[in-house]
Amino acid sequence: MNATTVIIQCEPSQQWELLLEQERGQTLLTYLIARLRQIHGADRIYLFLEDAGRRKALVKEAKRQGVRLLHWAPSAILAWLSLAWRSLRTGAVVRVSESSAFVDPEITNRMIELLESESADCVYAAGFPEGTTPIHVISPKYVARRILRNLNTIAHGPDFISAVRRVVKGGKTAYLRFASLYRTVRIPQSFVVRAPEDLAVLRELFGETLGELRLQDVVNLYGDVERTIRHLADRRGRSMAPYRINAILNRYEAETGRTALQSFPVSVGFNIMPICDVDCKFCSFSPQEMDNRDRVTLEEFKRLDWLKYASEVALWGGVGESLINPEFLAIFNYALDQFPHLKISLSTIGKSLRPEISDQLVGRLSFLNVSLNAARKETHAKIVKAGRFDRVVDNIRYLTDLRKTRSSTLPRVHLSMVVMRENVEELPEFIDLAADLGADQAVVSHYLATTIEGTRKAGEESSLYHHRELADAMLVKAQERAVARGLNVILPPLFSTTDCNVLFGARSEFGPSGDCFLPWSTCHLSVDERGRRQMLFCCSGMYLRTFYDVSQMDEAGFVKLWNGPIPQHFRGTTNSAGNPLCTFCKTEDRFDPTNKKIYDIDQTFGQTLEAMGNQAGQGPLLTLAKRV
Ligand code: SF4
Repeated sequence: MNATTVIIQCEPSQQWELLLEQERGQTLLTYLIARLRQIHGADRIYLFLEDAGRRKALVKEAKRQGVRLLHWAPSAILAWLSLAWRSLRTGAVVRVSESSAFVDPEITNRMIELLESESADCVYAAGFPEGTTPIHVISPKYVARRILRNLNTIAHGPDFISAVRRVVKGGKTAYLRFASLYRTVRIPQSFVVRAPEDLAVLRELFGETLGELRLQDVVNLYGDVERTIRHLADRRGRSMAPYRINAILNRYEAETGRTALQSFPVSVGFNIMPICDVDCKFCSFSPQEMDNRDRVTLEEFKRLDWLKYASEVALWGGVGESLINPEFLAIFNYALDQFPHLKISLSTIGKSLRPEISDQLVGRLSFLNVSLNAARKETHAKIVKAGRFDRVVDNIRYLTDLRKTRSSTLPRVHLSMVVMRENVEELPEFIDLAADLGADQAVVSHYLATTIEGTRKAGEESSLYHHRELADAMLVKAQERAVARGLNVILPPLFSTTDCNVLFGARSEFGPSGDCFLPWSTCHLSVDERGRRQMLFCCSGMYLRTFYDVSQMDEAGFVKLWNGPIPQHFRGTTNSAGNPLCTFCKTEDRFDPTNKKIYDIDQTFGQTLEAMGNQAGQGPLLTLAKRV
């Protein structure tokens, strides 16, 4: 490798002015550039600004520091061409994300080393959700093969790397597991900067020494686990941004393998309405089975004062339709007023996404998924019984139009489809509909034919695992349509693609799975298919037998649940063979109807967990009282 170009890619929605913050007389941009120049061969550094016109101060400072600017071009396509040209002329391109102000050269070097191996055209850190990895490295040959062919999609995609990854079929990708860095760099994810508040938090934590510290130094400084946890927990209690320190503490506890946590989950899902207003064919229970289910009231929601420590909350989870909770707007408004830092997301079937609700959501809700599942009215009626297709489409259009009128980017809108025999032929039309409705992304996932409880109404025959050629043909068409329409789309891999990993229990072209931290970072206060409230860490396909009572979810009650014997056992075994559910998640395809292993795991591991809960006196705590 002769040279490495580093491109700091500033995406419009991110807060790159952070780089102009002063720290001990120097801007963070100076600090970052100095850091990047330590990287072998990283003598060419570019700032790729998609919205240079709005960032005059940053442009001026970059020029002053001799950083070259990309994107003086008048259009996105020319800008991407310019980026591709720079990539082709160099040995490797390191793409720095916004969270990389403290990126460590050791990581970069290791990634470039991987890039030089035969098998790697593109290196990502494995096992982390997109957007949280500190750095990506790609080689020009990776770009060269595909980029020009797919220029249109890439130009319209919000993220160069993910757009390339999405459109490139068969390109080789190497994944850097953080475990492989253990000898050189301890996992530094806890200490990355993600927003201006982070800088303040880092100042609180590391004070005057900040400007001189490398990530490794920070980790060394806080190498004493007990002391660090005490320090972080103490700081959290006094901080102006407790949720930021909680996120750092949470990551730190995950990395050090703690099972009883001082930190609260960073991401919380809360099912506030386990009753539904439709009857989906791919779902394993029906509205008529739901008459004993209990919604969450505003008063109950107010007990969750510990949400001040969380960073995001999903007002949905498991089963049900949140928008038909008569207090949905009251809960949403309360959450935003009380915890203004929270990113709130919602998934809905769309029938009850009425204009008066959208009026409140636009500009304030962070993310919205509408589970549309069809492109034609007749098909929608068969799959989503009582779904009112026209009304759903009108509702979505109202929301996206309003978003435009208010010049807001919020909420980000995804339209999703559970793809099955009944709707697969509509996939290209579904892409068209999503584009016409102004969605930001279409998301397609397979129908899951197996379930621990309940009976899927559609049956196994509806699974496309029994109609593979047809499915592949339609997936290819959908991909082509998305390219033509410039729409982001997440599609499952073709059945003919054999070079797949398993990620979250599904065939995937991403991955492979790295170490999983969800049992530390994530908590779904969910509802199972029998209407019982259970806490989960992920959509693993099995219930954990961690029952909870909504009326006991104040801080003390939540901590008892969060650090109960089952969660602790689960965390203690997550990344080892001692957890058959996690092993299943990393090796088995649960969407394949012939794969029945989850039943065995539910019987064996599930019952072990249940016994553990019973022994600790933490059996079902439910006190269901029917409310109107
Ligand atoms: S099953 Fe285990 S490895 Fe899979 S997502 Fe859940 S916690 Fe992570």
